[in-house]
Amino acid sequence: MFIQIISCELRVAESATRFDCRSLSGAEKTGADAGKQSEPGSKLRFSVLLSVREPDLRLNPSQVLQLLSLRPGLAEHACRQQGLGRFGEKVHFASLPHIVEHLLIDRLVEEYGFQVAGNTRWQNRATGSARVTVQTLTTEAPTSEHPRHPLQARFDQLLQQAIRELEEVLHQPIDADA
Ligand SMILES: [Zn+2]
Repeated sequence: MFIQIISCELRVAESATRFDCRSLSGAEKTGADAGKQSEPGSKLRFSVLLSVREPDLRLNPSQVLQLLSLRPGLAEHACRQQGLGRFGEKVHFASLPHIVEHLLIDRLVEEYGFQVAGNTRWQNRATGSARVTVQTLTTEAPTSEHPRHPLQARFDQLLQQAIRELEEVLHQPIDADA
């Protein structure tokens, strides 16, 4: 296992945060509305603490191809890490927690259809601990109509699926023909 979940928590977002990464396709969309205030009570924030075994590990080119063929939507995510652009242009130098973040965003969009933004920050790069935060951007987020605990459980499952998917890519034998 390269990646472990230390803790995760789903709560209503209470403060405005500037996010680097977005499910919205097209890098241009990160600009104008990126600094907008969040609306308290209407958005959900999922905060995840991860531990990665090799903080400097990056995907090799065949693993990048495999990941993007599994989740083509990732390539179109807007991502501001190391300059404005699409995640498809950044995945080859993205850290594992940053890739988990985009996989989670992709699954949340698929599951609920709302737009999602996220951030990844090292808490302690030497020990491989990183904080991944994703937040719903749409006010139709299922806060009121869904009980809290099943929703947290579903977010947990989507996180676990995202990590499993990345682990499978990482454990793929290197294809000599790729
Ligand atoms: Zn990103």
